[in-house]
Amino acid sequence: MSGESWGRYPLARDQHLLALRDRAAALPAFTGTALPHGNGRSYGDSCLNDGGTLLCTRGLDRFIAFDPASGVLRCEAGVLLAEILELVLGQGWFLPVTPGTKYVTVGGAIANDVHGKNHHVAGCFSEHVLGFELLRSDGSRRWCSAQENPDWFAATVGGLGLTGLITWVELRLRRVRGPWLSVETHRFDSLAEFFPLAAASDRDYEYTVAWIDCAARGSALGRGHFIRANHAAASSGPGAPKRWLSLPLTPPFSLINRLNLRSFNALYFHRQQARVRHALSHYEPYFYPLDAIGRWNRIYGPRGFLQYQCVIPPQNAQAGMAELLQRIGASGSGSFLVVLKLFGERRSAGILSFPRPGATLALDFPNNGPDTFALLDQLDEIVAAAGGAVYPAKDARMSGARFRSYFPAWQTLQPFLDPKFSSGFWRRVTE
Ligand SMILES: Cc1cc2nc3c(=O)[nH]c(=O)nc-3n(C[C@H](O)[C@H](O)[C@H](O)COP(=O)(O)OP(=O)(O)OC[C@H]3O[C@@H](n4cnc5c(N)ncnc54)[C@H](O)[C@@H]3O)c2cc1C
Repeated sequence: MSGESWGRYPLARDQHLLALRDRAAALPAFTGTALPHGNGRSYGDSCLNDGGTLLCTRGLDRFIAFDPASGVLRCEAGVLLAEILELVLGQGWFLPVTPGTKYVTVGGAIANDVHGKNHHVAGCFSEHVLGFELLRSDGSRRWCSAQENPDWFAATVGGLGLTGLITWVELRLRRVRGPWLSVETHRFDSLAEFFPLAAASDRDYEYTVAWIDCAARGSALGRGHFIRANHAAASSGPGAPKRWLSLPLTPPFSLINRLNLRSFNALYFHRQQARVRHALSHYEPYFYPLDAIGRWNRIYGPRGFLQYQCVIPPQNAQAGMAELLQRIGASGSGSFLVVLKLFGERRSAGILSFPRPGATLALDFPNNGPDTFALLDQLDEIVAAAGGAVYPAKDARMSGARFRSYFPAWQTLQPFLDPKFSSGFWRRVTE
């Protein structure tokens, strides 16, 4: 059957789906190549395998043990971050690192070594993984951790599912006093204001990120809202918002276009009149604003969309980001969902982990065909010239040459690749 990821581009054809349910069982028989599949929240083809098999892990959804004294959790790899939060928050624990959706599996979070708004203090997801079991297509199993088989650990975190199937995991959670965050939102008028504000905020705030108006130009280039937060000790606060709505079907065309993007962004930017606003927020709207709208990825119409996330090293960050935003602004493309953040200095153990020191920009582009692909190639040129990289978990189109220059250590992964595992992404960038 055909299948798609979160960006709904590309469409993978002739994929055979095998549902896994028992972590102790051998891998089911398959022909051709196989790829573990979590909850399909990657945007491009790193979770797709045209003409091959997907080993669907959502059935590996059991909790194995949780110690509320130490915050150490053991669970199967198909457990969602949302399910972990349901189990542990009431007992005073939270995810140490979380991406912008809670609907990802633990296995998917490890295979892309995901990051969150606290990268500058907590690093990547793998920093909090005490170990996991890796099952290979030859039937062998090994425990991988920083102490035991550390080379396999480094290959598998951020390893794009290519080194074997993670069956179960041991994680260390972080303490919190409740579900609320104390949030400060600063309106800033230009990219030049973002950098000192972000650097100063990273000293005192666990979570920092900015929303950028990608349609603003000239002296307003890079204006936006800077949002910084810490977990709050409040004993009461706002409740979790209800799930608003779900897009029941795909509209025949993208609902995001040049006209409504400009006006929507300007309205949103000016929505906050005060320079600084303080609020107590429930963790759901703070960390997962898009999760409130079911299937929001349909908003871009039948052709889907491409997410672009890059990182540019500190010395070139401001100039590089300005160039990217100019190019995007001039194209009239882009979306409302544009985030800019500074990654911290913490290096992940993962050979292919994406985060590295510098500024990271992420945004969606409706798929308008060749124009969109040409624009993204131009963005790649800027990123490559600035010594940066593009995030494979969000990618559906970078060339093999670009990938290999962004991740020069990619060949170090070769000895650890499972000979029977592959993905659309991996074939595209290495063959
Ligand atoms: C709204 C939204 C916001 C996001 N925000 C962020 C963010 O802030 N930071 C960030 O880093 N990412 C972010 N992402 C991307 C997302 O966190 C990653 O793509 C994540 O890996 C998806 O997990 P998944 O369970 O859906 O896995 P899938 O997308 O299904 O698979 C991802 C990769 O994991 C591998 N894999 C899955 N399960 C296993 C397993 N058991 N064993 C071995 N390999 C496995 C797959 O082969 C594939 O290579 C966001 C995505 C969305 C949709």
